[in-house]
Amino acid sequence: MTERDAELAAAVDAVRAASRVCIAVQRKLVGVETLEKHDKSPVTVADFASQAIVCRMLAAALPGTRVVGEEDSAALRAPDQAPLAAAVAERVGEQVGETELEQVLDWIDLGGADASGDRYWTLDPIDGTKGFLRGEQYAVALALIEQGQVVLGVLGCPNLMAGGGAEAAAGAVFSAVEGRGAEVLALEGVGPRGQPIQVTRLSSPAEARFCESVESGHSNQDESARIAEQLGITRGPYRIDSQCKYAAIARGDAQIYLRMPTRKDYREKIWDHAAGKLVVECAGGRVTDAEGRALDFAQGRTLEHNRGVVATCGPIHDEVLEVVARVRAASAR
Ligand code: AMP
Ligand code: MG
Repeated sequence: MTERDAELAAAVDAVRAASRVCIAVQRKLVGVETLEKHDKSPVTVADFASQAIVCRMLAAALPGTRVVGEEDSAALRAPDQAPLAAAVAERVGEQVGETELEQVLDWIDLGGADASGDRYWTLDPIDGTKGFLRGEQYAVALALIEQGQVVLGVLGCPNLMAGGGAEAAAGAVFSAVEGRGAEVLALEGVGPRGQPIQVTRLSSPAEARFCESVESGHSNQDESARIAEQLGITRGPYRIDSQCKYAAIARGDAQIYLRMPTRKDYREKIWDHAAGKLVVECAGGRVTDAEGRALDFAQGRTLEHNRGVVATCGPIHDEVLEVVARVRAASAR
């Protein structure tokens, strides 16, 4: 087994375990305890438990692991958050057999590495928290970055189906390793290998279905509607939370993902894109920002040099970027 295979196996195991906790918490969503982070995004028992589980499992399987995670335990350590912290520890215990609170808080903080150096993982323990809280789509997103390049990505998508027809199973995991293809695995399957997936072969953007955020605060939906119209697309948008959008492109459920900036000063976070970008590229698609630049993962926790995201099934990418540029220029006027 190569080192990369060991990394893939550990990442898939960790994402599966974290996804199980998320599924259990989402089922009981009514009454779930949430607290407001300073940026006002809701964060739940499942976010913290997911981060603790992934950090713990990766570190146990791959010594020397560094993780740049979205969450930290500071809010959970406040005395008035003791009930929430206890709920997190209980959920973590169900997956890894350890419920000691201090230990669990420390595992969360294993995700506190700097986004610098030759090699680190990046984790969004629940990408699409708003979708999660609505009872809809979300993803556990984990990627390995080496020398500023994403080389491995795993997306746990508990509310997507893996496979179709008689083989269909609830819960999908998407994986990608640089230089190999992308695959889809059953969330409740065994082992790190799945079925190969590929983007749609499409010659004209007019035939495409495009996807975008459910949240209009995360992506300018008026602008994407104008872009779609100019591309000759007649189908309505496929709105879906989280990096499930990248999964949709990678396996051909949609052919264009538009993430148009809503604010000049917003910088995309690395954990919101690393895994998804690689899954699309390894499935044969292309990913750039809205200005056609490659996503630059070598700038710390954010994609400092990028604005928005455009992902496509590939051959139509330049044509889509031209229309994106035209529409954005017209709205800037
Ligand atoms: P989505 O589910 O695609 O809407 O994306 C969810 C992610 O959007 C969250 O993880 C946030 O990090 C990110 N986000 C928050 N505010 C913005 C914003 N103004 N523009 C783009 N993304 C954002
Ligand atoms: Mg996120």
